[in-house]
Amino acid sequence: MSSTVAITQLTHSFGKGNLRRTVLSDINLALYPGEIVLLTGPSGSGKTTLLTLMGALRSVQEGSLQILGQELMGAKKQQLVKLRNQIGFIFQSHNLLDCLTATENVEMALKLHSLSRRERRDHAHKMLSTVGLGEHSQKYPAQLSGGQKQRVAIARALVAQPKIVLADEPTASLDSQSGRDVVTLIQQLAHQQHCTVLLVTHDTRILDIAERQLHMEDGRLCA
Ligand code: ADP
Ligand code: MG
Repeated sequence: MSSTVAITQLTHSFGKGNLRRTVLSDINLALYPGEIVLLTGPSGSGKTTLLTLMGALRSVQEGSLQILGQELMGAKKQQLVKLRNQIGFIFQSHNLLDCLTATENVEMALKLHSLSRRERRDHAHKMLSTVGLGEHSQKYPAQLSGGQKQRVAIARALVAQPKIVLADEPTASLDSQSGRDVVTLIQQLAHQQHCTVLLVTHDTRILDIAERQLHMEDGRLCA
């Protein structure tokens, strides 16, 4: 089976001159379709940096990083943007637009797809029903609870059926039951759509959903 993510000898630093600090050292990792992988590790160990590199949100400095068969080392900006649109992102703070309804927020993820407005709306609505928010689709983020907002964010991340979903501490701001619901939902959808999920978490309450767990310390992956 070919990997969706293939990383070899990836190293990343921030800062210049004396202030230069290596935050990722010699990362080697392969992720496969249909896998849910948890990434744990102390604050500052480099988890978000790794996730943003995988999401084509920053440039690769050293090593090789292949996403969906494309090499990101040395890739042009335009190629990074294109790849970014093929990845589903779920962040700690849901990042919904407050001035848009739940449906409109989910529709945003379909903007670049060649669908009619009507089709976009139907897909968005169906996805919101899947995450249990069918009856709240016309509400604005301010009218939703934390768990509901995070479910809108999941719907938005998955509506375009991405092959890769990157989630950075998606349960951090949720109580334990909502956190578990959110993770179970990500897990179910990932299995249905056969995508790769990398989920960064501090949350020891949800470790049991992992099929595979990676741990990061001081910029290094320890198996
Ligand atoms: P984690 O997500 O595991 O908490 P991060 O990847 O956010 O870790 O951060 C790893 C290290 O890189 C930390 O020491 C952090 O301060 C540093 N860092 C992260 N982003 C930047 C940045 N944009 N500029 C400089 N240093 C950064
Ligand atoms: Mg982080």
